[in-house]
Amino acid sequence: MTALNLATQNGLRPEAAEIATSPLAIRGLTVSYGEKPAIFSVDMTIRPGSMTAIIGPNGAGKSTLLKAALGIIRPLSGQTTVFGRPLDTQRARIAYVPQRASVDWDFPTTVLDVVLMGLYRELGLLRLVRSSHRKTAIDALQRVGMADFADRQIGQLSGGQQQRVFLARALAQGADLYLLDEPFAGVDAATEKAIIAVLKSLKAVGKTVVAVHHDLATVEQYFDHAFLINVRPVAEGTVAEAFTAESLQAAYGGRLATAQIDRLSQAG
Ligand code: ADP
Ligand code: MG
Repeated sequence: MTALNLATQNGLRPEAAEIATSPLAIRGLTVSYGEKPAIFSVDMTIRPGSMTAIIGPNGAGKSTLLKAALGIIRPLSGQTTVFGRPLDTQRARIAYVPQRASVDWDFPTTVLDVVLMGLYRELGLLRLVRSSHRKTAIDALQRVGMADFADRQIGQLSGGQQQRVFLARALAQGADLYLLDEPFAGVDAATEKAIIAVLKSLKAVGKTVVAVHHDLATVEQYFDHAFLINVRPVAEGTVAEAFTAESLQAAYGGRLATAQIDRLSQAG
């Protein structure tokens, strides 16, 4: 029996049961940087163990959605629950890989140190790095094919290599929910393959992955669920349910290459 069925059986209404079992459930989230909201009244319910693509045009509020859901920026209104509990009690279970363009790559630190940052909760106040921590970090670097670079300065790596290191940091954390903001942006094909393999291996052991994804051509191949947004939520569900010509038209309007919509119209 699924967790959702169990929660329903325990007397919760379907909506409440869904929230109680969701790795990330957002209700009524509105964020504004100025007068116009960047995201407006967003509800999103991520399925346990799913791989969800967050899709929408530039400026649609995708990064804002992740940051507000994590409490990195303060929303005007709305709630987030993580595994049915308040966000603040569940932070150790969430790994976040920000959009690469938003990170300062010039700070003087080694690849190993960046990955060890993923373990800061375990390192404690004194930041004591034990050999077991170092092993966890090296294991994570191995999984993304970057173990040979452990002693390099992070600023000396290519964009794709940096992205792998930040994924390694998320892996070292041993989280249950992985939020990634455009993990494939500006990376080479080999890195994209390596990253998707790691994400699929996380899903295979029951972890939940949510990624902002801008390449519409690979949505069906990489993800099983999709959430379309353009300031307001547009569609949510399995890729078959949500990634349709209609919802793409609604999210992108005239901004989408018509070839993409034609292809989906013919397929569906
Ligand atoms: P996306 O990730 O979908 O491209 P963002 O969430 O980055 O979109 O941005 C949504 C909107 O909010 C955009 O119009 C963007 O210009 C604006 N915005 C994002 N961050 C800030 C900020 N720190 N200050 C002011 N406006 C911002
Ligand atoms: Mg963004």
